[in-house]
Amino acid sequence: MVLYSNNIHWENVHLTDILGRMIPCPVRIANNADCAALGETTAGAGKDYSDLVMFTLGNGVGGGIVIHGEIFEGGIMGGSEVGHMVVTANGKPCTCGRKGCLESYVSVHALLQEASQALQKEVTLEEIFAMKDTPEVQKVLHEYVEVLGIGIVNIVNMFRPQVILLGGQMSEYAKELIEPLTMMMKEQCYGGKHGMIPEIACAGLGKAASIIGAANL
Ligand SMILES: [Zn+2]
Repeated sequence: MVLYSNNIHWENVHLTDILGRMIPCPVRIANNADCAALGETTAGAGKDYSDLVMFTLGNGVGGGIVIHGEIFEGGIMGGSEVGHMVVTANGKPCTCGRKGCLESYVSVHALLQEASQALQKEVTLEEIFAMKDTPEVQKVLHEYVEVLGIGIVNIVNMFRPQVILLGGQMSEYAKELIEPLTMMMKEQCYGGKHGMIPEIACAGLGKAASIIGAANL
């Protein structure tokens, strides 16, 4: 049963029962970001690793944690919502009700808003990265990386995965962020100066990641 989804406004939806009546095979349910992380572990950028954390940077910020090749959801459902860790006390309001969540700063929606404000016109993600050398965009991207880096370092300090993957809409541009994020991990992760940091890479399967992961549940 889907207990709760703040983005599609579902509460207590008996999804497996409903789909089970239509689809002639057993139906299981899992979070899409968790499935994407599992898909990348099975057949994508994480296939050489057993332990990874994937950040899906899209309209929101999702996360998937894979430990020993399996999705980690916590003891009950609803774990690994990395987008809802607070990175700034009393910061920007988030859809979840808290203030200062990672999602409020590093979703694609947030990046578009910041860049549009800085440039005084509506811009797309593609345009932002095409203008990455202009001072206004440089400043916006610098601040974006700073906050994303805080979130990543927090997760690395807790889980110390072998690899961090950046997925979602940002994945095709995320290669621009890997170098500064690696620097931040070296400087800020516990033991980072001694080289104990994960790889960081772009997810490789795009939208297929969650489908492949779901098929592997
Ligand atoms: Zn939140």
